Amino acid sequence: MRVVLLGPPGAGKGTQAENIVAKYGVLHLSTGDMLRSAVRKQTDLGKKAKNVMARGELVPDELVVAVVEERISQPDADRGFILDGFPRTRAQAEAFDTYLDANNLSLDHVVELMVDEDVLLDRVVARARQAKENGQAVRADDNAAALKIRLDAYFQETAPLIGYYRSKNVLRSVDGLQSIAEVTRDIFEALK
Ligand code: AMP
Repeated sequence: MRVVLLGPPGAGKGTQAENIVAKYGVLHLSTGDMLRSAVRKQTDLGKKAKNVMARGELVPDELVVAVVEERISQPDADRGFILDGFPRTRAQAEAFDTYLDANNLSLDHVVELMVDEDVLLDRVVARARQAKENGQAVRADDNAAALKIRLDAYFQETAPLIGYYRSKNVLRSVDGLQSIAEVTRDIFEALK
């Protein structure tokens, strides 16, 4: 099964991706996690992405597309994957479609988590507080200034992909304001 999870920052994509992985045994591919790992390891990619990410802006399409394609071409991705945080622009979606076509693959579902913009700041602030309490590192972009830029990027660049995937008949929209368990239940229903 190959799935894309769409939704703004704080919508619960990471949490729900983990629940999907636990049930379906697919790979969880979070481009945010991959990029944060590159930043920690100070790779060339990490050096290019670090400041862009801290500001809350999008990393250039060609860099992200290359990372995803490289990861998906590895044998363990044959069992399927859930993409969390990719694609985020029309150019990424089109490049990804070209890659999938060239490899005789297709997306089974694109799940949109629908949430109200006003809950997102609270959720992101709560995530930063939780990380701090657990002694984990707080994300460089989990602050109000970066969140505003991330939200703008979502509504301008990523939200148009909802229409893009709807026209391809793969879009499934789920109410992301419900409890975590209810959202998971609705996602499993949508993936049937
Ligand atoms: P996330 O963990 O999905 O919230 O991503 C954190 C940050 O990583 C984003 O704010 C971007 O700077 C960068 N990023 C993650 N995925 C992408 C993507 N598909 N395209 C561009 N930038 C991305």
